[in-house]
Amino acid sequence: MSPSASAPVAPDPPVRLLLLGGTTEARALATRLAGRGEYDVILSLAGRTEHPAPQPVPVRIGGFGGVDGLAHHLRAEGIAAVVDATHPYAARMSFNAAAACAATGVPLLALRRAPWTPIAGDRWREVADVPEAVAALGAAPRRVFLALGRNEVRAFEAAPQHAFLVRSVDPVEPPLAVPRADYVLGRGPFGEREDHDLLKSHGIDAIVAKNSGGSATYGKMAAARALGIEVVLIARPSVPQVEAAASPAEAEAWLDRRFRAPSHGAAGAERGA
Ligand code: NAP
Repeated sequence: MSPSASAPVAPDPPVRLLLLGGTTEARALATRLAGRGEYDVILSLAGRTEHPAPQPVPVRIGGFGGVDGLAHHLRAEGIAAVVDATHPYAARMSFNAAAACAATGVPLLALRRAPWTPIAGDRWREVADVPEAVAALGAAPRRVFLALGRNEVRAFEAAPQHAFLVRSVDPVEPPLAVPRADYVLGRGPFGEREDHDLLKSHGIDAIVAKNSGGSATYGKMAAARALGIEVVLIARPSVPQVEAAASPAEAEAWLDRRFRAPSHGAAGAERGA
């Protein structure tokens, strides 16, 4: 059956896409593409959590083996494009993707989440990295909420004078070697009300966090503002300069522009966002 005069022509066979994930945006883009026969999407996760959340497309888990390993994967799997929707702090993966795509000629789009910016009432203190965050807490004992990955909290054993509250997806094993630490398990999104109650009930007076951007983990930032709590914010790492989209809808439109040929002169047909 021939397509209608204005319909774009779906590629046949489907376009194989590698979606580098681990974020809400990666899942949202996967959801948008999952029902569309013209794309064959594989979502890649680093494997940082023990029980990753279900995804709407097939998933592969674990590193590729650096730039060479990823370049080999792109060729071997016949990948037509890569969308880098990794976490803003997963910079090594982003640089590897840029290098592997440059080496193989596979088009790359980064799906980047804007950082949070302070507003009136915020008490933010930006630091370069985790060791600087440890130092920024100071010598006097404080009650600190660590909103970091479980692999990053271990550095705070260097400051055992503080009491820590750690929230992570998987348990921190072994527990931190400090006299006072509480643990809560949770997978975002976290709302402001919930985080307000958490901070208040634990008497928190400092938060250490990443500037992740987005809404899923902003609740603690809004709650900190309301409670007048200082936030020690670890600066974002630099990422490669590549073509970027700011939302899953924009990324989908980029893919459609690239892979869906307009038919019968219908210029640049795109699905509505
Ligand atoms: P990273 O430092 O950029 O990546 C380290 C290595 O992990 C990469 O070189 C790659 O291994 C592998 N990797 C990372 N993302 C991958 C993906 N989507 N698919 C397959 N392999 C992947 O990232 P990270 O060590 O995961 O985390 C760095 C920071 O980001 C931490 O602060 C962490 O808390 C934060 N973060 C990461 C994620 C996540 O899903 N990764 C989610 C939330 C927060 P090879 O070189 O072997 O290919």
